[in-house]
Amino acid sequence: MEAPRTAEIVSVGTELLLGQIIDTHAATMARVLAECGIGCQRRATVGDNFARIVDTFKAALSRSDIVIAIGGLGPTNDDLTREAMAEAMGDELVFEEAYAEELKAWFAARNYTWVERNNKQAMRPKHGRMIPNPNGTAPGLIAEKDGKVMIALPGPKGEFDPMAEGSVREYLQSAGGGTIIASRTVRICGIGESAVDEILGDLMAQESPTVAPYAQTGEVHVRVTARARSKEEAMQEIVPVCDEIQKRLGKPVYGFDLETLESAILSELERRGETLALAESVTGGGIGRRVTGVPGASKVFSGGVVTYTVETKKQLLGIDPDLLAEHGPVSPEVAVAMATAVQQKFTAGYALATTGNAGPTSDVDGKPVGLCYVALAKPDGSVEVNEHKLRGIREDIRARLEQFALLKLWLSL
Ligand code: ATP
Ligand code: MG
Repeated sequence: MEAPRTAEIVSVGTELLLGQIIDTHAATMARVLAECGIGCQRRATVGDNFARIVDTFKAALSRSDIVIAIGGLGPTNDDLTREAMAEAMGDELVFEEAYAEELKAWFAARNYTWVERNNKQAMRPKHGRMIPNPNGTAPGLIAEKDGKVMIALPGPKGEFDPMAEGSVREYLQSAGGGTIIASRTVRICGIGESAVDEILGDLMAQESPTVAPYAQTGEVHVRVTARARSKEEAMQEIVPVCDEIQKRLGKPVYGFDLETLESAILSELERRGETLALAESVTGGGIGRRVTGVPGASKVFSGGVVTYTVETKKQLLGIDPDLLAEHGPVSPEVAVAMATAVQQKFTAGYALATTGNAGPTSDVDGKPVGLCYVALAKPDGSVEVNEHKLRGIREDIRARLEQFALLKLWLSL
């Protein structure tokens, strides 16, 4: 196989340096490069300053075969990428009359006022060509000079994504010398990263395909990656390794690639013709949000209630006031009562309930910050409850409890 080429990504925009927006495009671009078999060696961010942009482009061009610039292609004065690209490559900008006419017609068709400054977007490096932009006015640019390639893409997501995934991907695929990098992610819940490491140690030590773990909130994702001439060829190496991982870990492997824990649960419940209801206190509807994020959730999810106060626990779920007074709202008894009540009220097969103290300020009824309960009522009439003593900030406690609740349901299926 031909030696793979190298690339660098340069994100342009002062708002990135100020932390006002997150550089999600660089991540998208890095993924596309990897999938095209091109090694991304560095990423840089530079503000809207001509000299610094040129410097950054030049340094990147001196090291790598391909430099991809993101943002700063618009018509305004702080959009400098086009000019800096030509300068860094020792090229000149030429005016593309045909595109200027197209742009004028586009403005006229919408009764938008034409200003001369729009012509800037019809300039391209002499050794370059435009990448059509069906979703905006600034085309992307690809230029090849002195054995180096520079690509520039506009910043708005609706313009960047289609180009990165479309014509730029195609271009990079051929530039990558015909090899691609493909991967499959095995998604695991309910078992820690170190345990996964232990069980899969020998697989992680091997050269190809590579097996690497990533810890997520309450989950571990293991990515299996191979380089090959085609996706099919790579998958022939990858799939047997994924099968082996699933065989070793069993139930904690809930899915692959973009599948989520909630989508795995809903498919399984649908397969069984079962339904689900929720009674949430401390998670405030967070589990419901995750569940309803899955397309087609209504086939399984009956609904849920957020009973955040003692009063609503009594009124909406009919929880016994004496039970609440005796044990307090943050208790296994109340979690069980909530799950049972919502299971009956929604005539659902399965019901999950959460209650707890997410902090940060004080103990509730003498219950410490982080103490939470998850109850699961099942179709056979049984109810289980788990206690969790969670650490972290409020946001983490709530997110972890959502995850533990879904995990409990998954493992019981
Ligand atoms: P425009 O024609 O809108 O000026 P542009 O190519 O000049 O496009 P920028 O001005 O750099 O692009 O950015 C426009 C918007 O695109 C930003 O305000 C931001 O919302 C988004 N954006 C730019 N760069 C990135 C990035 N690296 N990651 C995510 N979003 C970005
Ligand atoms: Mg701009």
